Amino acid sequence: MIGASAMDRGARVDQIQRRANRIRERILRMAATQGQGYVGQGLGCADILSALYFDQLRYRADDLQWPERDRFLLSAGHYAIALYAALIEAGMIPEAEMETYGADDSRLPMNGMAPYTPGMEITGGSLGHGLGLAVGMCLGLRLRGIHSRVFAFVSDGEIDEGSTWEAVMSASHFKLENLIAIIDVNNQQADGPSKQILGFEPLVSKFEAFGWFSQRVDGNRVEELLDALDAACSHAERRPRVVVCDTLLGKGVPFLEKREKAHFMRVDPAEWELALQQL
Ligand SMILES: [Mg+2]
Repeated sequence: MIGASAMDRGARVDQIQRRANRIRERILRMAATQGQGYVGQGLGCADILSALYFDQLRYRADDLQWPERDRFLLSAGHYAIALYAALIEAGMIPEAEMETYGADDSRLPMNGMAPYTPGMEITGGSLGHGLGLAVGMCLGLRLRGIHSRVFAFVSDGEIDEGSTWEAVMSASHFKLENLIAIIDVNNQQADGPSKQILGFEPLVSKFEAFGWFSQRVDGNRVEELLDALDAACSHAERRPRVVVCDTLLGKGVPFLEKREKAHFMRVDPAEWELALQQL
């Protein structure tokens, strides 16, 4: 796509914010068709997906199997609603398919299924596998002499999984300079607040200790996010990179930001219009 990095920084920030807003709107409209969904996570990560799909990633919307494309791996497969919204915005999925979201035979099931969905690289979940898949993919690309980057989006709940840390160690061992992990720290997982379920801080120090180039930003502040992604992608050393992103569940819709226990949200029929208005 797009060559956004050739634009000036202000224009890049504007574009990411504008498209993030459209991603959020689509998340709400899709979820409204079912009355429920992983809405909080979707709204929380919309800025990240926008920054990736409309600034950082190299891809061809009309050639999804282009070998040189950057890969985006959604390890947290239950965030699929946000990825669908980004893929629609990117022109890989027709807008009209939104109304099929979550229905039988839809290409947009509630939990992501890569074989069903154009532009979706992996089926994320069982959780904790995406970073390992990313490591394998980086090694495979290296063997084929392809210089694509692999962006792995991992939820904070997945930090609990031993398989994630095997991948962290392996990525460092193999000096995977084309691997960029994004950790979405929304402090929420199915069973409660992530940091209470199994403490994982200080996360940046842990990644550093494993040999990664590590940064932490507010994942809902586009300027910070953009600078961190630029720094991650241009870092000169041969080692993997991580951007830990603190995000707010339900970001952009005030009454959803404040809702308690929001891992899987049910929203009353009358509230969807209110959510869209608040957005
Ligand atoms: Mg989480």
